[in-house]
Amino acid sequence: KQRGRANWVRYADGMERPASAHARLGGDLRRALDAGEFRLVYQPIVDLRDGRITGVEALVRWEHPDRGLVSPAEFIPAAERTGLIVPLGRWVLRETCRQAAAWIAAFGPDVLDKAAPNVSVRQLHDPDFAADVAAAVADSGLPANRLVLELTESAVLRGQQVSRVLHEVHAMGVRLALDDFGTGESSLSLLRAFPAAIVKLDKSFVDGIELDEPGTPAAEARQAVARAVVQLAGALGLDTVAEGIENQEQADRLRRLGYTVGQGYHLGRPMPAEQLTEIFAARRRVAAAA
Ligand code: C2E
Ligand code: MG
Ligand code: MG
Ligand code: MG
Repeated sequence: KQRGRANWVRYADGMERPASAHARLGGDLRRALDAGEFRLVYQPIVDLRDGRITGVEALVRWEHPDRGLVSPAEFIPAAERTGLIVPLGRWVLRETCRQAAAWIAAFGPDVLDKAAPNVSVRQLHDPDFAADVAAAVADSGLPANRLVLELTESAVLRGQQVSRVLHEVHAMGVRLALDDFGTGESSLSLLRAFPAAIVKLDKSFVDGIELDEPGTPAAEARQAVARAVVQLAGALGLDTVAEGIENQEQADRLRRLGYTVGQGYHLGRPMPAEQLTEIFAARRRVAAAA
């Protein structure tokens, strides 16, 4: 506060934060949820072969009255710590289902094959989680197989109860994606035990993957990881999405390695629902004219 409104001090993990700042953020998040300050933006998930949007990932934003748009990196950790991620995540889930069902109602069932919210491990420990997912699907009318829950590997690794919940959700027909794949404690036994349908190759393996001048071993290593992940996924019958594609060279390289689906600023930025509605409407006009 003494530094003025525009100055937000960043604290590294493990640094002591003033307890009051903690409490303030926690209280602020609760108030924000009640005041309806959270928004979802949707990032296209794109078929690399023809550029067609095949799905969307839902990403939460906080439209703070003073600070403007706040990124999830700033408030998701606090929401997880305080437990507010449970009601916030429930809202994200319901809103994603509602919006995806609205697109299907407006443009037909082929408008997208997946709508994917992110889910925190903390939500998986909530005893109502599976019931919330069932209710979000039932209340929206979204076909369960169009819903994809994005989970990080660390979320999945932890314990029996999580595994039971994930199998319950899987049994409803909802698909599960392993997010940021390759960065966590990935293990082959995890992939076998976990009812995943999709693995999302982490952006860190896509960064620089297109650079293959001699003497760039980092690029070669990334290509090797990317190739191994797509082959493993194929062998296990899983789909893949390559994340964080920022230029055409990366898209081309990933295509050659065997990826058919990608996501990234080069293919589409996260955007408000209305903007995607316009894209879907334009696509329909083109199809009707053809
Ligand atoms: P994520 O699930 O891996 O989402 C991808 C992030 O990468 C998004 O950041 C997206 O905007 C960004 N991104 C996409 N393409 C590119 C690219 O080409 N280049 C770069 N540099 N970045 C790209 P965002 O929206 O800031 O979200 C960050 C993380 O916050 C997400 O990572 C996810 O872990 C978490 N998150 C976002 N929304 C939610 C939510 O509703 N619930 C939970 N639990 N976590 C969320
Ligand atoms: Mg994600
Ligand atoms: Mg991701
Ligand atoms: Mg990521």
